[in-house]
Amino acid sequence: MKRLIKNGTIVTAADVYHADVLIEDGKIAAIGEHVSPHDAEIIDAKGCYVFPGGIDPHTHLDMPFGGTVTKDDFQSGTIAAAFGGTTTVIDFCLTNKGEPLAKAIETWHNKAKGKAVIDYGFHLMISEINDDVLSELPKVIEEEGITSFKVFMAYKNVFQADDGTLYRTLSAAKQLGALVMVHAENGDVIDYLTKQALAEGHTEPVYHALTRPPELEGEATGRACQLTQLADSQLYVVHVSCAQAVEKIAEARNKGLNVWGETCPQYLVLDQSYLEKPNFEGAKYVWSPPLREKWHQEVLWNALKNGQLQTLGSDQCSFDFKGQKELGRDDFTKIPNGGPIIEDRLSILFSEGVKKGRITLNQFVDITSTRIAKLFGLFPKKGTIAVGSDADLVIFDPNVERVISAETHHMAVDYNPFEGMKVAGEPISVLSRGEFVVRDKVFVGKPGYGQYLKREKYGKYAVLNENEKLTI
Ligand SMILES: [Zn+2]
Repeated sequence: MKRLIKNGTIVTAADVYHADVLIEDGKIAAIGEHVSPHDAEIIDAKGCYVFPGGIDPHTHLDMPFGGTVTKDDFQSGTIAAAFGGTTTVIDFCLTNKGEPLAKAIETWHNKAKGKAVIDYGFHLMISEINDDVLSELPKVIEEEGITSFKVFMAYKNVFQADDGTLYRTLSAAKQLGALVMVHAENGDVIDYLTKQALAEGHTEPVYHALTRPPELEGEATGRACQLTQLADSQLYVVHVSCAQAVEKIAEARNKGLNVWGETCPQYLVLDQSYLEKPNFEGAKYVWSPPLREKWHQEVLWNALKNGQLQTLGSDQCSFDFKGQKELGRDDFTKIPNGGPIIEDRLSILFSEGVKKGRITLNQFVDITSTRIAKLFGLFPKKGTIAVGSDADLVIFDPNVERVISAETHHMAVDYNPFEGMKVAGEPISVLSRGEFVVRDKVFVGKPGYGQYLKREKYGKYAVLNENEKLTI
């Protein structure tokens, strides 16, 4: 089936221009001013931007955590993602020590199969390195197309790996062509500070933030950068929340290291004071790293603007306030960590970033899609509007306003951390491989339509600077 998107303004990471986009067999077949086949369905995008579909590099769908499971699974999570203009998610596949990686990957395939409405890939968590793990890694990359590994430097006695594991993962990734992602917080010190706070009788949600100070994120980020330099490898720091971590990433990049940084919408617009909301409502804002004092927001915006941070992930990890967040009513360490963010990632960056003049339209596309596709081996199939690329497209009206609310969102949770926030701009229609998932703000997709994405190795399109210098 052919479709023609007419009258829109195409935005890529490099250009903004008026042209029509012809879609054939799920791919972009032509772009130009006089593309007019007789047999194509016409879609009018007048007054709208046409963006490459957003890629969310950081989601936790259907994930067990703290004695419960995230509320959004691959169905509700990807439907919400699509409403927000995201057409690809890369979810974190958790592993268990002593169990074959293949078993964990199979578990994650089963979670997504038949449910995802948009395409998806997996990152693989590495919690230990031994001969069994090392013997499985080449297969993970070659056969599964999983080319990014996640190491947790926090969550002691749960997910946390030691520095030796991180170093060996970095070395293996270098040899195999993978990108190592770190959750950078000093888990050992956090463990001590939380025990101390509880011993002093501090049980309220705000102590989640007070026991995970930004210095501990900066310290872990710096440590990961140094180990990356020693291993001559590549590193992607997830959910950067504070100035101390930005500083370490900038320092590493200035030295020429292949270090990349992601931040999330919540850190750009919310701050630590939200954790002090009365009636335990602060628990709605408990995730890690925690929200910071407001002044960090400007540092993060500047880092996105000047390229010290390159991507925006959601860190979608949703739990209901009732029944799930409430598990920590008497003890902040028992509040499941995470928030529902997947749906509003693009809206917040567009409204607060582009509309307020902090970043350009091209940067918006790069940060939410193109750079992510390049770093995670999806480019140019995903992440751009070019002939031959998948027709993953968002028709976005920049002139409408909407108010974010749990009453209208499509996530399965009972609250929205951005409740009441006015945002400018909204995805009107969203296509995945040429098929509508959302049409005129109505869901028309199908669970199970989303395909699993085998990704290319790290390095092909991952560039260090704006001059597109290839590093490998
Ligand atoms: Zn996460």
